[in-house]
Amino acid sequence: MESRNYIGGEWYTPRGDVIHVKNPSNTSEEIGVLHLSEASDMQQAGEAAQKALASWASMNSGKRGQILYQAADLLASKLDEVATLSSLEMGKPISEMKGEVMRGVHLLRYYAAEGVRAVGDVIPAGADNVLQYTKRVPLGVVGLITPWNFPVAIPIWKLAPALICGNTVIWKPAEAASLSATKITAILAEAGLPAGVLNLVIGTGSKVGSRMLEELPLDGVSFTGSTKTGLQVAATCARRNIKYQTEMGGKNAAVVLRDADLSTTVPAILSGAFRSAGQKCTATSRIIVEQAAYEPLVDELRKEVAKLYVGNALDPSSYLGPVASAGQYETVRSYVRLAEQTEVLAQGQAQVDPSTGYYVMPLVVGGVGPDHKLVQEEIFGPVAAVVRATDAEEAFALCNQTMYGLSASVFTQNLSRALRFLDETQAGMVRVNLETAGVEYQAPFGGMKLSSSHTREQGQAALSFYSQVKTCAVYYG
Ligand code: NAD
Repeated sequence: MESRNYIGGEWYTPRGDVIHVKNPSNTSEEIGVLHLSEASDMQQAGEAAQKALASWASMNSGKRGQILYQAADLLASKLDEVATLSSLEMGKPISEMKGEVMRGVHLLRYYAAEGVRAVGDVIPAGADNVLQYTKRVPLGVVGLITPWNFPVAIPIWKLAPALICGNTVIWKPAEAASLSATKITAILAEAGLPAGVLNLVIGTGSKVGSRMLEELPLDGVSFTGSTKTGLQVAATCARRNIKYQTEMGGKNAAVVLRDADLSTTVPAILSGAFRSAGQKCTATSRIIVEQAAYEPLVDELRKEVAKLYVGNALDPSSYLGPVASAGQYETVRSYVRLAEQTEVLAQGQAQVDPSTGYYVMPLVVGGVGPDHKLVQEEIFGPVAAVVRATDAEEAFALCNQTMYGLSASVFTQNLSRALRFLDETQAGMVRVNLETAGVEYQAPFGGMKLSSSHTREQGQAALSFYSQVKTCAVYYG
């Protein structure tokens, strides 16, 4: 497959650099070609989105919803095809990838239904014979910048609410998810989106992403990616007074208290730390354990990590596949080298020859203090660090000892400790006896501290971001 740009309802191949995409599960196999855009392609996308705005914004929202329902049906009918492409492109195991595509279908249906739901409130007026009400209206042209780790769900959880609210969109996906982005755009186009409503521009962040932010007449920007990039995005948007949201990195903790039921705790930690090869913003990368539970927990982790099936992303048995790219492999390997200098508590083994792809074995390390790099920096790979705490009090304090605040979980049977954890933890998504990842699409998603611009995505929260409120008053006396 080859990536293409989709601008003003036309497909074309931009003239920038060409990248040959390798299968991360088997790097000797080429699975596609990317054609990168020049800054001028972004300019054209801006013009197309501006041109399409008035008629899309004024279209009956029920009709906009019908197009999203149609896109949902098309995506459902191509579930296997889309999931296979994304697994080949960025290495997420096929079983998980199918679940992610299904999440995309649910998101499209959820936001399609918003086309016939209320868009405001009637508010009693102080004066007589005045009807006062609010009405949500579109922002205008919105720019979406997405990462590669959820190549289907993250774009759709931005696109669907942006479109149902009546915005037109310019989408700059991550390079490592550009084949998937081309496929998703084709599905939305086939569903009947009018020309110019969605414009896809394939390219690098430094060239076309920054051009979009610096120069296009945008009314909103939604970004998901690293904290480093997100802070630059926020600064540019703030300078230009563009409404923005940035969902960024995490260093999420599973806090295990002395009374945790290990039969449910260990599978939740394994899933949080190692599914998607640890490349989820909500992945468990710190395991903070109360002293009394340390030995039994580590014994269980040692046994269970050794059993994890590390294999080709298209192998339905794979619990985790490779990491997504050569760059990602180098970064994660540098943390593994650091981890090997500490105490390795548990390590997995590959069911394939690891030299055939970007495979990193699941790893649990100990012997690190709360300030160690492995405990403070986002690794974004299958590496988790165990930190001991003398009691629940200290465990909760350690959980908050990070610049991030995305998600956190506690494992305990004690109701009062669980509720205290939910109250005291500085994270946007806090959970009891559940893994740190896996927040549902109909619930708000986002972080505190340096994980987020303090906005939320998904659920009803997304509608607030992609619209602005007008307060209307009518004197009829
Ligand atoms: P990244 O920051 O490198 O890139 C994200 C996107 O920004 C890509 O499309 C990239 O091309 C673009 N970009 C890069 N530089 C840019 C610039 N100067 N101007 C405009 N755009 C630019 O992140 P990544 O490696 O793709 O994704 C991994 C990161 O994403 C991790 O830190 C992870 O925690 C985070 N993430 C967060 C969430 C969340 O909801 N909080 C969800 C998924 C991933």
